[in-house]
Amino acid sequence: MNINITKSQIKDAAQQAYDFASKVTGGENAHYIPYLANIDSNLFGLSVMLPDGYSVNLGDMSYKFGIESVSKVPTAILAMKQHSPEVVMEKIGADATGLPFNSIFAILLENHSPSTPLVNAGAISACSMVTPKGDSDAKWKAITDNITDLCGSAPELIDELYKSESATNFNNRAISWLLKNYDRIYDDTDMSLDLYTRQCSLGITTEQLAVMAATIASHGVNPVTGKRIFDAEISPKITTLIATVGFYQSTGNWLYTSGIPAKSGVGGGVLGVMPGLFGIAAFAPPLDDAGNSVKAQAAVKKFMEILGLGIMNGDHVTITD
Ligand code: GLU
Repeated sequence: MNINITKSQIKDAAQQAYDFASKVTGGENAHYIPYLANIDSNLFGLSVMLPDGYSVNLGDMSYKFGIESVSKVPTAILAMKQHSPEVVMEKIGADATGLPFNSIFAILLENHSPSTPLVNAGAISACSMVTPKGDSDAKWKAITDNITDLCGSAPELIDELYKSESATNFNNRAISWLLKNYDRIYDDTDMSLDLYTRQCSLGITTEQLAVMAATIASHGVNPVTGKRIFDAEISPKITTLIATVGFYQSTGNWLYTSGIPAKSGVGGGVLGVMPGLFGIAAFAPPLDDAGNSVKAQAAVKKFMEILGLGIMNGDHVTITD
């Protein structure tokens, strides 16, 4: 089917989705990271960005929340940029675990592989792959410069969150050393874990995440700065990773019901990509049992439903003025 959508339909759909999701309740803030437990549960933002720079921003779209697992997306892109998608496949993998994001069991089940850059094991491994090897400051700069390029503006470290995570990340320490045991950490182990913990502690807004999502949707070109951030061949690779594991162990249910590949984080953020069409981001702290924001899911799903879109629908979609 050929579907044409106007920008005013996008704007109305975003507003309706926002109003609908505002009334959705349930879920709880992430409890295992003390900083996140104390964030105002009523915050809610929604942003949509098109490849030509048209955007819709609603609610708390300028609130800087903890990017958490959504940071796995830009660093996977960086590892692909620096080493190629093939090397990332070989050193980390691209397989969904079907298990929680911080599963140690998954590493053992998957023949000692980190599985995918979008779970904790693979993300720590991806941080270890970032060059220049051995130089923590330069690696951190590469990670944050890449996020700045993708968002068109810089993220900001939430120091309190970083301290809170560093003091409580015992499970991630176990993952890191288990991976080291299986030769899946490609730099200093503690440094790799620290970079991962720090990137999770970056503050980001839905406005910024929507630009990142739209950069992926428009094959590597940032719609705000007009800069090419990564080669077009990386776009389908990162979108595949997002589609297969972006919503932790409920990824299948998510894609089946929403029709859009999306990555969530325990800070309450969700980043969704419709290739060639738009990027979308939502944020609200209360999470469901799998660790996905209840309101953000409701908003993104509603937006897709109103517009009648789905990545598997096979429609030819155009967006015009
Ligand atoms: N920093 C968190 C952790 O590693 C991120 C988890 C997430 O958002 O999935 O536990």
